[in-house]
Amino acid sequence: MDTKEGTPGQSQLSHQLLKVVLLCACLLGVLLSLVQVFIEARQTSIAIDKRGQEILAMIHEPAHKALSRFDNKMAQEILNGVMEVSSVRAAAIRLEDQSLLARTERPLSHSRYRLLTDAIFTPIRTFRHSMSADSHAPSASGEVILHFDTAYEGKSFVQRSVTIVLVGLVRAITMALVLFFIYSTLLTKPLNRLIFHLTGINPEHPGKAQLPIPKGHEKNELGLWVATANKLLHSIDKHYSLRQKAEERIMRLSQYDYLTRLPNRRSLQKHLNRLIKKANSNDSMAVICLGLDDFKSLNIQLNFNAAEHVLVKLSDRLRNHVNNSTYLGRLGEDQFAIILTNVGQPYEAAELTQSLLQEFEKPFVINDEFLTVTATAGITLFPNDGDNVDKLLQQAEFAMIMAKSRNRNRYQFYIATIDSDIRQRKRLEMDLHQALEKQELSLVYQPQFSCENGELVGVETLIRWHHPDRGLISPDLFIPMAEQSMDIIPIGNWVLETACQQLKQWQNSGYHGLRMAINLSAVQLQDPDIVDRVIYLLNKYQFSPDALELEVTETFIMEDVEIAKLQLNQLKSLGITLTLDDFGTGYSSLGYLKQFPFDKVKIDKSFIEGLPEHKENDAIVDAIIQIGKSFGMVVLAEGVETLEQELCLKEKGCQEGQGYYYGKPLPADAFIEHLTNLDVLPRIPGRANG
Ligand code: C2E
Ligand code: CA
Ligand code: CA
Repeated sequence: MDTKEGTPGQSQLSHQLLKVVLLCACLLGVLLSLVQVFIEARQTSIAIDKRGQEILAMIHEPAHKALSRFDNKMAQEILNGVMEVSSVRAAAIRLEDQSLLARTERPLSHSRYRLLTDAIFTPIRTFRHSMSADSHAPSASGEVILHFDTAYEGKSFVQRSVTIVLVGLVRAITMALVLFFIYSTLLTKPLNRLIFHLTGINPEHPGKAQLPIPKGHEKNELGLWVATANKLLHSIDKHYSLRQKAEERIMRLSQYDYLTRLPNRRSLQKHLNRLIKKANSNDSMAVICLGLDDFKSLNIQLNFNAAEHVLVKLSDRLRNHVNNSTYLGRLGEDQFAIILTNVGQPYEAAELTQSLLQEFEKPFVINDEFLTVTATAGITLFPNDGDNVDKLLQQAEFAMIMAKSRNRNRYQFYIATIDSDIRQRKRLEMDLHQALEKQELSLVYQPQFSCENGELVGVETLIRWHHPDRGLISPDLFIPMAEQSMDIIPIGNWVLETACQQLKQWQNSGYHGLRMAINLSAVQLQDPDIVDRVIYLLNKYQFSPDALELEVTETFIMEDVEIAKLQLNQLKSLGITLTLDDFGTGYSSLGYLKQFPFDKVKIDKSFIEGLPEHKENDAIVDAIIQIGKSFGMVVLAEGVETLEQELCLKEKGCQEGQGYYYGKPLPADAFIEHLTNLDVLPRIPGRANG
């Protein structure tokens, strides 16, 4: 067998073939030989009979003569002659009366085949020949009896049979070997060679090595089999590589964020888990959660692709900024996480976070405009703040949320109180829900003045919450809460109603010409009933439209631009004044805001701070005033606290001002008293009712 090309297991077919062919050939050989032996036995038997008859025929004449003469001697001589034939066991010439004329015999011969031949031919064959009287010897009648020992013929029969069987066997085996040789050259050898090639095929690339078609088998079934197998291997290879590519893609997708190519939340969790498991007692790590401030409005203001572009650029910046010992991933829409290992002291994490926040602040150029993005971060430390992935990540996110709720663009370490802070927040949210009912809300009023002639031009109403346990709570804290819980709708309606009522009361007292500015939240702006409510109030209190002003912040209108535009246009059509509040704190440009029907823009108080010394703020305020006026909008500066600021704003051409310099927000009575003291109230007593 060709052991080089096949393992013993693989050559089983050859062995089996050899065995079967040999066995069949031997059986057939033996069977055919047996048939031949049978024929031979029959022929031997016939030959024995023939030989007996021949001997009888040979002695017939002399025996008859001896009988007719009653010549014992002659008869004995004849019989002695017969005994020359070695296979004759006994012979006798008997008279009619059964008396013997002559008789001769010898013992049965000893043959080793006797047992076999006796069974086939019987040990003795008896031949008789009767002799009757004739004219020459009228009294001579009797018979010649011959007993033939079959062992002699039997022996040569056995010898012949053995030869027959042996020759038959040799012939059969030779035939079997020839057949086996033919099978093995035509079938098993090529098969073994194919098996050898098949075992050599790389299962990852089965199509790379083709099976060779065995020589001389190109056009038969074997050739066809190989060609089909090759095609199959090729298509397996193709499908395998397609599947592999798909698997790799799925793997990448499942581990990496498609947009920024940063590891996703799951990979980050896994990595952190590995680090935690590997960490020994004195290893410490920091998990930093970084979230963009106001990504939502960025998304709305820019188109979707540009916002994604910003995210990609930011990720690149972060990637370039961190080193190898830092793992960076994207947690979700606008959130990133950084795992910093080998943190000796917490300030190292703080330093890295600070530098990352600064990376964010570098401006981007998008659609030919400069844009800055800020972010807020929360930091947790392993093992102090938590010893598992979920806790570390969740607390980092909590810390970030807390940092955002206080002041953006900063970082905050996780402290145990954050949990209680968050619990307190929840408690506060519940309290806020009942604040209106429990009459804990009130309004204060802050005057607005013309910078040009010092006249009172309006009043902004600001809400206050007197919490029974916690005292005065800033609207900066509870308004966002109310927006989230939708409590802002009843609260906002109450503000509108109460402010209008107050204005009516003042009008009735003779204080005419006051315009009431009311803050409107984004949620209220999206309320489909808001326009009807304003119409209702104008009718109910019989106000001319210029008595009302609504302030909307730019980030608010960005939440749903289309609805905001629709609602603002409808409000505008009522004739009331629309003001853009907090301008400059969001992402929008004045050019973009031009599409909204604002009459007035309020410069946020953060830009008025430090005027006129603060050069950067000075430049920003200058720019806002210029652009605002060029769009035909009135410009009001918020947070004016000093005479210098007022003078500076006046010089720049700012038309109106509001701030502690003119008056702090005060309850209605104190407000009137303050204005009366300033002597700026345009009271027309004749028209007063009360
Ligand atoms: P805002 O509309 O920008 O209101 C101006 C804020 O600046 C007020 O804070 C006011 O007290 C404060 N302020 C005025 N002049 C000065 C000044 O000279 N210096 C300084 N440092 N601050 C000054 P307040 O009342 O805490 O309100 C905070 C914010 O809460 C408001 O900002 C407004 O966005 C929101 N808000 C207040 N009342 C309402 C309301 O009734 N409805 C809604 N939706 N939002 C409200
Ligand atoms: Ca306002
Ligand atoms: Ca403001």
